[in-house]
Amino acid sequence: MFFSHIYVEREAAEYATARAILPRFSQSVPISISHYKDVFCRRGQNFTRQKRRPQLILAVKREDYFHRGSRMCDGFGQDNFIYTTQIMNCPFDCAYCYLRGLYGSANVVIFVNPEDTLQAVANSLPAFICVSYDTDLLAFEALTGYVRRWLAFCAARPEAVVEIRTKSAAFHSIAGFDALPNVQLAWTVSPDSVIERFERGTPGLNARLADMRRALEKGWRVRLCVDPIIKTRGWEQDYRAAAQTIRAALPMERLLGVSVGCFRVSKTHYARMEKLEPFSEIFGYTMEERDGTIGYPDEAEMIAMTRAWLTGGAL
Ligand code: SF4
Repeated sequence: MFFSHIYVEREAAEYATARAILPRFSQSVPISISHYKDVFCRRGQNFTRQKRRPQLILAVKREDYFHRGSRMCDGFGQDNFIYTTQIMNCPFDCAYCYLRGLYGSANVVIFVNPEDTLQAVANSLPAFICVSYDTDLLAFEALTGYVRRWLAFCAARPEAVVEIRTKSAAFHSIAGFDALPNVQLAWTVSPDSVIERFERGTPGLNARLADMRRALEKGWRVRLCVDPIIKTRGWEQDYRAAAQTIRAALPMERLLGVSVGCFRVSKTHYARMEKLEPFSEIFGYTMEERDGTIGYPDEAEMIAMTRAWLTGGAL
């Protein structure tokens, strides 16, 4: 990870997290700012261009420590389903990522006061909490240590159930911790053909599966997510082959669950994403709108087929 410039809110510079992060980037030019939105929310930014050379912003989170889950997210049937955003944007660059439609900037914002988020969540328990939202928290672990903070939080609070979703192969950064019954590690996987074309910077399928296997061996609760399924020419063959690879690599019966879903985003985000890369194959298929969400018209069949391949059921 390299950032040529690091924007630091004057208030953020006082926090221990900022003091730990800044020396790691001694080659970067620090720029003092008063509020992260002065940089992050500037008008006229281009997400895809910025994504090639993102900058880092260190900021203080002053409000909205958590949000209630949206209807497009899988809350696994939990009543109090919330998510936190301690980092905005991601080290990876998935062509179908909704962050492209959500943010005008690809710069990475790290909020340096995770303790305030933890305190706010502690006041709202019991809850199912997705903590790797609007980012890939485990991929940033070596830099921030935020996953470890959630592990300590959960160890002391059985009424908190935390999901840490990732595409990384960074399990090693928490491998020294004991598995916790109220922490779910969820890996999103795709066929290598999709990874190579649409998930820039992410580890390959086998690397993610190896991490999942290691986590299972260490007693962690592990969820497999084949979500989103991305339609391409020949997607059936690619996902069928990936399902075989997954079943050969993992003890499927020991997984906490298998989530399967198709590419879908809100209508507003879809329009912004398509404008950024209008010729991407992601947007080259017929889509339909249902209740403000854009998705494939045949998503139910695609999900059923993929589920059957993953479970070994015959179609
Ligand atoms: S890993 Fe997730 S958050 Fe990161 S770019 Fe890909 S889809 Fe977006």
